[in-house]
Amino acid sequence: MLSLPALLAAQATPISIRAGRLLDGQGGAQSNATIVIEGGAISRVDANAPAGTATYDLSRYTVLPGLIDGHAHLSWYFNRSGRLHTPRDGDTPEESMLAMTGNGWATLASGVTTVQSPGSPEDKDLRDFIASGAVPGPRVLTSLEPITNPRLTPDSLRSIVRRRKAEGADFIKIFASKSIREGGGPTLSQAQLDAICGEAKAQGLRTLVHAHSADSMKEATLAGCTQIEHGVFATDDVLKLMAERGTYFDPQCGLVFRNYLDNRAKYEGIGNYNEQGFAFMEKAIPLAVAAFKRARATPGLKIVWGTDAVAGAHGRNVEDLICRVQDGGQPPMEAIISATSLGARAIGLGNQIGAVAPGLQADLIAVDGDPRIDITALRRVVFVMKGGRVYRWDGVR
Ligand SMILES: [Zn+2]
Repeated sequence: MLSLPALLAAQATPISIRAGRLLDGQGGAQSNATIVIEGGAISRVDANAPAGTATYDLSRYTVLPGLIDGHAHLSWYFNRSGRLHTPRDGDTPEESMLAMTGNGWATLASGVTTVQSPGSPEDKDLRDFIASGAVPGPRVLTSLEPITNPRLTPDSLRSIVRRRKAEGADFIKIFASKSIREGGGPTLSQAQLDAICGEAKAQGLRTLVHAHSADSMKEATLAGCTQIEHGVFATDDVLKLMAERGTYFDPQCGLVFRNYLDNRAKYEGIGNYNEQGFAFMEKAIPLAVAAFKRARATPGLKIVWGTDAVAGAHGRNVEDLICRVQDGGQPPMEAIISATSLGARAIGLGNQIGAVAPGLQADLIAVDGDPRIDITALRRVVFVMKGGRVYRWDGVR
């Protein structure tokens, strides 16, 4: 990583990047393009510019917009006993904050320049410190504390939405179904979801709904919520309804379940990470791939990319994009669009990030290989720029 003075100096003068291949995040591709960056934003993209004069010569690589993970939990980490951190494991808030900052750096260095964090009040300060440039990390959008309590009245749910807004939440996260480890059935009524998503809309906030069962997904869609997460038990009918209503869908392909199973000893015995919970997750892997395929087969359904990255998965986010292509049959370009321009629109930042186009912020990554031919090239990140600052460059400048 460059030192802070070097970073600041780099921002003051125009930067140019020569891209061997350029994927613009909107389905376009070109060879030998030069991207010019001024004041942290892309000022122009020159086709067929001469090589050799660029600030960063990435002629050997594929340049694409920084990836947008619509669902990552930076606050989850393994403590020094090698177990999932819990509020009562003895870690101080400072230790937890440092662990979370480390997760942010791992995420950014892996090419994910923006994450949406559903359900962690702890990450407000991290969001603000990263945004100020004080610490490296992805741009963070946070819901702060999620809404989970099924016993609250519609009126008190509306007041919670207003309180979250006052506290600085970027969006509202709602649990409308049980965990996959508990079967995934609905927990909130239609009236409760109507109250939350209706009030959020009135307050100008988006709503992300955790829902596994088709019933809970249908309720969230009818309530006008913005986006549904997970949806392992989605049916064709509910996916069709979501497409009609323009509800974004964020299914996971496999990383989240595989990560739990790979790290079983670090989770087992905590909360619902028990024998039955792990059995559910093992069963969920083929179900999740099938649900993803069903979603892709639904005309007009807007499928965004969110990994649900937890402890053990930070920095490995792209594995879930690779899963979508390799196991879910998604064309690589479509997968990349879901993680860039479509992802940006879903989080309300379509006019700021998610594409290589003049006027947008310079969030750019380079990978070794062509992900259109080999999606695993996304594992081989060599360059990361966010807002015009270079945070990673493995080659020579
Ligand atoms: Zn989650």
